[in-house]
Amino acid sequence: MDESPIDSLKTMPGSPTPLDYRETYPCPLCRRGKLSGLTLVEAFGCNGCSHIFVLNPSRQSVRAVDRSPPLTWRWDGRRWQTSQREDVSLGWGEWSIAMAFVLFPTSIVGLAAYVFPPFPGSPLSFFPILWAVLTFFSHLVCVTWLILEYYQFPILSYFRWRR
Ligand SMILES: [Zn+2]
Repeated sequence: MDESPIDSLKTMPGSPTPLDYRETYPCPLCRRGKLSGLTLVEAFGCNGCSHIFVLNPSRQSVRAVDRSPPLTWRWDGRRWQTSQREDVSLGWGEWSIAMAFVLFPTSIVGLAAYVFPPFPGSPLSFFPILWAVLTFFSHLVCVTWLILEYYQFPILSYFRWRR
């Protein structure tokens, strides 16, 4: 087990040195590759995961611009800190819409089954209940998938380079 390159960084006493396109840094995304300034463009490229990072000099942070949502890390002079994701966090309104998206169709289907009940003992009398349950879970899967996409963590590239 070799030591993580994020720990073997050059340690700078005193104030943190600002990020510079002429320097190389460990990649905050894959943690294996090295970030170095790309020629002709104002950006860092990683030689491990090939992602592109753009520097924000005022916040001393880099942003993986070829990812959606773009992830941001702040440089404290020695290592990367994961930035607050305030720009992509889900608010109360989004959660309400997600809840409504799951509950509203389910309640319509359930209400229809309640208002127009099947004849008792008919061969498909279970169908309205099954349909309501299917409606609930299919919408729940949609919403869960969207939320996972939204908070997507680069888990694959992280583990691929972590080994
Ligand atoms: Zn990388």
